[in-house]
Amino acid sequence: MARRSCPVCKQVVDEKLTREGNVVTKSCPKCGKVFISYEIGKGYLSAK
Ligand SMILES: [Zn+2]
Repeated sequence: MARRSCPVCKQVVDEKLTREGNVVTKSCPKCGKVFISYEIGKGYLSAK
């Protein structure tokens, strides 16, 4: 788990990794803010 500061919570949180098929999403465990999501083997899909 990587730690990063959440712009919504304004505090440092542990990234939550979610995997759906080939898509990996890293989000805030507290507010659900999506930091980044990408598809394995294809690179970035979006960075919100
Ligand atoms: Zn948050």
